[in-house]
Amino acid sequence: MDKLCRLMCPDLSQLIKPLCLARDSECLNGQFSMKEFQRLKALLSDDLGELVYNLDFSVDTKGICCIGGELKATVNVICQRCLEPMQIEVNHTVSLGIVRDMAEATRLAPEYEPLILTEETLSLIELVENELILALPFSTTHATGNCPGSDILAKVNQNQIQSPFAILARLKPHKYIK
Ligand SMILES: [Zn+2]
Repeated sequence: MDKLCRLMCPDLSQLIKPLCLARDSECLNGQFSMKEFQRLKALLSDDLGELVYNLDFSVDTKGICCIGGELKATVNVICQRCLEPMQIEVNHTVSLGIVRDMAEATRLAPEYEPLILTEETLSLIELVENELILALPFSTTHATGNCPGSDILAKVNQNQIQSPFAILARLKPHKYIK
Protein backbone atom coordinates (compact mmCIF):
# COMPACT_ATOMS: atom_id res chain seq x y z
CA MET A 1 0.00 0.00 0.00
CA ASP A 2 2.78 2.38 0.95
CA LYS A 3 4.66 1.66 -2.27
CA LEU A 4 1.48 2.02 -4.33
CA CYS A 5 0.72 5.37 -2.69
CA ARG A 6 4.20 6.65 -3.47
CA LEU A 7 3.84 5.57 -7.10
CA MET A 8 0.46 7.22 -7.46
CA CYS A 9 1.27 10.46 -5.62
CA PRO A 10 4.86 11.38 -6.41
CA ASP A 11 4.45 14.81 -4.76
CA LEU A 12 3.34 13.30 -1.45
CA SER A 13 6.45 11.15 -1.29
CA GLN A 14 8.48 14.37 -1.06
CA LEU A 15 6.75 15.48 2.14
CA ILE A 16 8.88 14.74 5.19
CA LYS A 17 8.35 15.03 8.93
CA PRO A 18 11.60 16.67 10.07
CA LEU A 19 10.96 16.37 13.82
CA CYS A 20 10.22 12.63 13.56
CA LEU A 21 13.27 12.12 11.34
CA ALA A 22 15.42 13.99 13.90
CA ARG A 23 14.15 11.92 16.85
CA ASP A 24 14.86 8.72 14.88
CA SER A 25 18.32 10.03 13.76
CA GLU A 26 17.44 9.32 10.14
CA CYS A 27 19.47 10.14 7.03
CA LEU A 28 18.02 11.08 3.67
CA ASN A 29 20.14 10.72 0.54
CA GLY A 30 19.12 11.22 -3.04
CA GLN A 31 19.12 13.49 -6.01
CA PHE A 32 16.91 15.92 -7.87
CA SER A 33 17.07 17.10 -11.45
CA MET A 34 17.30 20.89 -11.91
CA LYS A 35 14.08 20.57 -13.93
CA GLU A 36 12.22 19.85 -10.67
CA PHE A 37 13.09 23.20 -9.05
CA GLN A 38 10.61 25.95 -9.89
CA ARG A 39 12.03 29.09 -8.20
CA LEU A 40 15.63 28.27 -9.05
CA LYS A 41 14.92 28.46 -12.79
CA ALA A 42 15.03 32.28 -12.77
CA LEU A 43 18.63 32.19 -11.50
CA LEU A 44 19.99 29.65 -13.99
CA SER A 45 20.75 29.81 -17.72
CA ASP A 46 19.10 26.41 -18.27
CA ASP A 47 17.56 23.54 -16.28
CA LEU A 48 20.30 20.98 -16.96
CA GLY A 49 22.24 19.34 -14.17
CA GLU A 50 21.51 17.47 -10.97
CA LEU A 51 21.71 18.01 -7.28
CA VAL A 52 22.84 15.31 -4.85
CA TYR A 53 21.85 15.68 -1.19
CA ASN A 54 22.91 13.97 2.01
CA LEU A 55 20.89 15.11 5.01
CA ASP A 56 21.35 13.91 8.59
CA PHE A 57 18.53 14.54 11.05
CA SER A 58 19.35 14.53 14.75
CA VAL A 59 18.62 16.06 18.14
CA ASP A 60 21.55 17.96 19.68
CA THR A 61 22.55 18.02 23.37
CA LYS A 62 20.28 21.04 23.99
CA GLY A 63 17.28 19.25 22.51
CA ILE A 64 17.29 21.19 19.23
CA CYS A 65 16.16 19.12 16.25
CA CYS A 66 18.68 19.81 13.53
CA ILE A 67 19.47 18.95 9.94
CA GLY A 68 23.11 18.67 8.89
CA GLY A 69 24.72 17.38 5.74
CA GLU A 70 25.65 18.63 2.33
CA LEU A 71 24.42 19.44 -1.16
CA LYS A 72 26.46 19.05 -4.33
CA ALA A 73 25.28 20.40 -7.64
CA THR A 74 26.57 21.46 -11.04
CA VAL A 75 24.49 24.29 -12.45
CA ASN A 76 24.63 26.56 -15.48
CA VAL A 77 24.41 30.30 -14.81
CA ILE A 78 25.08 33.49 -16.79
CA CYS A 79 28.50 35.16 -16.55
CA GLN A 80 27.87 38.71 -15.30
CA ARG A 81 30.75 40.06 -17.41
CA CYS A 82 30.14 38.58 -20.89
CA LEU A 83 26.54 37.36 -20.41
CA GLU A 84 27.47 33.92 -21.81
CA PRO A 85 26.47 30.69 -20.00
CA MET A 86 28.97 29.16 -17.61
CA GLN A 87 29.02 26.10 -15.36
CA ILE A 88 29.62 26.30 -11.63
CA GLU A 89 30.00 23.65 -8.94
CA VAL A 90 28.10 24.19 -5.71
CA ASN A 91 29.18 22.40 -2.53
CA HIS A 92 27.04 23.55 0.34
CA THR A 93 27.15 22.49 3.98
CA VAL A 94 23.70 22.32 5.55
CA SER A 95 23.32 23.25 9.23
CA LEU A 96 19.72 23.97 10.11
CA GLY A 97 18.14 24.23 13.55
CA ILE A 98 14.40 23.60 13.56
CA VAL A 99 12.39 26.24 15.45
CA ARG A 100 8.71 27.16 15.76
CA ASP A 101 8.91 30.95 15.38
CA MET A 102 11.19 33.99 15.09
CA ALA A 103 11.57 34.26 18.89
CA GLU A 104 13.06 30.75 18.98
CA ALA A 105 15.14 31.54 15.91
CA THR A 106 16.88 34.45 17.72
CA ARG A 107 17.84 32.13 20.60
CA LEU A 108 19.35 29.53 18.29
CA ALA A 109 23.08 28.74 18.57
CA PRO A 110 25.12 30.59 15.89
CA GLU A 111 26.21 27.37 14.15
CA TYR A 112 22.64 26.86 12.94
CA GLU A 113 20.57 28.64 10.33
CA PRO A 114 16.99 28.71 11.59
CA LEU A 115 14.39 26.62 9.81
CA ILE A 116 10.97 27.83 10.98
CA LEU A 117 8.61 24.88 10.91
CA THR A 118 4.93 25.79 11.27
CA GLU A 119 3.48 22.43 10.19
CA GLU A 120 4.41 18.86 10.92
CA THR A 121 5.40 18.17 7.32
CA LEU A 122 7.75 19.93 4.98
CA SER A 123 8.42 19.53 1.27
CA LEU A 124 11.86 17.97 0.85
CA ILE A 125 12.29 19.47 -2.60
CA GLU A 126 11.50 22.99 -1.33
CA LEU A 127 13.91 22.58 1.57
CA VAL A 128 16.70 21.48 -0.77
CA GLU A 129 15.85 24.20 -3.32
CA ASN A 130 15.95 26.90 -0.61
CA GLU A 131 19.36 25.75 0.53
CA LEU A 132 20.68 25.68 -3.04
CA ILE A 133 19.39 29.22 -3.73
CA LEU A 134 21.19 30.47 -0.59
CA ALA A 135 24.36 28.64 -1.65
CA LEU A 136 24.57 30.21 -5.12
CA PRO A 137 27.22 32.93 -5.37
CA PHE A 138 25.83 36.50 -5.50
CA SER A 139 27.74 37.28 -8.69
CA THR A 140 29.26 34.79 -11.12
CA THR A 141 31.92 35.49 -13.74
CA HIS A 142 34.28 33.30 -15.76
CA ALA A 143 37.85 33.25 -14.45
CA THR A 144 39.96 36.10 -15.87
CA GLY A 145 41.49 34.87 -19.10
CA ASN A 146 38.60 32.50 -19.82
CA CYS A 147 35.96 35.16 -20.24
CA PRO A 148 35.31 36.58 -23.73
CA GLY A 149 34.20 39.76 -21.93
CA SER A 150 37.56 40.38 -20.16
CA ASP A 151 39.33 41.64 -23.31
CA ILE A 152 36.60 44.16 -24.04
CA LEU A 153 36.45 45.27 -20.42
CA ALA A 154 40.26 45.59 -20.22
CA LYS A 155 40.26 47.86 -23.29
CA VAL A 156 37.45 50.01 -21.88
CA ASN A 157 39.28 50.36 -18.53
CA GLN A 158 42.57 51.15 -20.26
CA ASN A 159 40.95 53.93 -22.28
CA GLN A 160 39.33 55.35 -19.16
CA ILE A 161 42.65 55.38 -17.30
CA GLN A 162 44.54 56.90 -20.23
CA SER A 163 42.05 59.61 -21.08
CA PRO A 164 42.82 62.09 -18.20
CA PHE A 165 46.54 61.91 -18.99
CA ALA A 166 45.85 62.30 -22.67
CA ILE A 167 43.93 65.51 -21.90
CA LEU A 168 46.76 66.79 -19.66
CA ALA A 169 49.31 66.04 -22.35
CA ARG A 170 47.33 68.11 -24.80
CA LEU A 171 46.94 71.02 -22.36
CA LYS A 172 50.57 71.16 -21.24
CA PRO A 173 52.18 72.58 -24.41
CA HIS A 174 49.63 75.42 -24.51
CA LYS A 175 50.64 76.45 -20.98
CA TYR A 176 54.27 76.81 -21.99
CA ILE A 177 53.43 78.64 -25.20
CA LYS A 178 51.69 81.35 -23.12
ZN1 LIG B 1 32.35 35.60 -19.05
